[in-house]
Amino acid sequence: MKKIAKSNFGQLWRLIDQNYELFAPIEKEGKVDFGLWQDGEQVNLELTKTKVSPKGFIFPQSETYLKFKTQGKKLSMEVVSGKTDEYVLFGVRPCDAVSFTLLDNVFLKEPVDKFYQERRNKGIIVSLACNNPEETCFCSSFGIETHVPQKGADIAAWDMGETILWQPQTEKGQMLTDKLADILEIATEQDQAGLKKLQESIQDKVKELPLASVDPKKMAGDLKELFDAESWEELSKRCLGCGSCTYVCPTCHCYDIQDFDGGKCGERFRCWDSCMFSDFTLMAHGNPRTTQKERFRQRFMHKLVYYPNNNEGAFACVGCGRCIERCPVNMDIVKVINRIGGKR
Ligand code: SF4
Ligand code: SF4
Repeated sequence: MKKIAKSNFGQLWRLIDQNYELFAPIEKEGKVDFGLWQDGEQVNLELTKTKVSPKGFIFPQSETYLKFKTQGKKLSMEVVSGKTDEYVLFGVRPCDAVSFTLLDNVFLKEPVDKFYQERRNKGIIVSLACNNPEETCFCSSFGIETHVPQKGADIAAWDMGETILWQPQTEKGQMLTDKLADILEIATEQDQAGLKKLQESIQDKVKELPLASVDPKKMAGDLKELFDAESWEELSKRCLGCGSCTYVCPTCHCYDIQDFDGGKCGERFRCWDSCMFSDFTLMAHGNPRTTQKERFRQRFMHKLVYYPNNNEGAFACVGCGRCIERCPVNMDIVKVINRIGGKR
């Protein structure tokens, strides 16, 4: 295990920046969001979670596939490749790191999504344990343990106050660690003892969280019975179909493909979509889900029933709690689990 003093962070960012694009939680005008680090930027590792998850770095909100133009009757097309620069995504919370592996199950299975694959391969993920989980967090309900290394991260890190402890988890993580050898020190036995204490304190805090007892396994059972549960009607009644919950969610991955026609030139691009929108999967013959109840049910059945059925029981939720914080009408996955998984 390695460590680095926070007083050397400026040097750390510059060294990473020499070899990679560096993305981290950047503080600007009182707001913290993942962004490209440039000299002078303030990296904020205190905030537990950013408003939007960092999934946009491997699955961008909008991404051009190809460009086309016409000259007379001649049409020419240029296929745009995905991301080409190698990058480091620093300070990803363990729940968000796990969410990348859930997206992998979708995009890296045959047929492989080459755009996603390229971004995934070129990124090195440095995760940071949550010293202070928030009251909307319930990652432990999905088996995520923020105090120890989780899958999805190439390096696991812990904030020890004056220093960061640093543990490579993968070959890519080891490669970055080797490149930073000049500024990383070997952690002492005292550091390791401090880490043990920190991990115990995190575990205690997680157990005390208000949503710690949320149990998604309550959604097990007869598929038809879950689908036909009467409570969908009541739960979906106040949903506005605004899609905020899907846009902030690290595991939502629906997208649309559109052509932008600029006359003699244009682009084909994909962009995030939401199963909560009334025009989602709208086809020439109409929409297969005509009511908000059907759309609402689809979102939660997918995360809690269909995805697990197709992915060895893994739920498509990591308990980050962003949807709880962002929904304008206070509707969220916890309420669905408790209601549908409870009395139905
Ligand atoms: S459904 Fe909500 S709690 Fe679950 S991963 Fe998405 S935003 Fe986070
Ligand atoms: S954020 Fe709330 S109101 Fe908006 S689509 Fe999601 S559940 Fe519905």
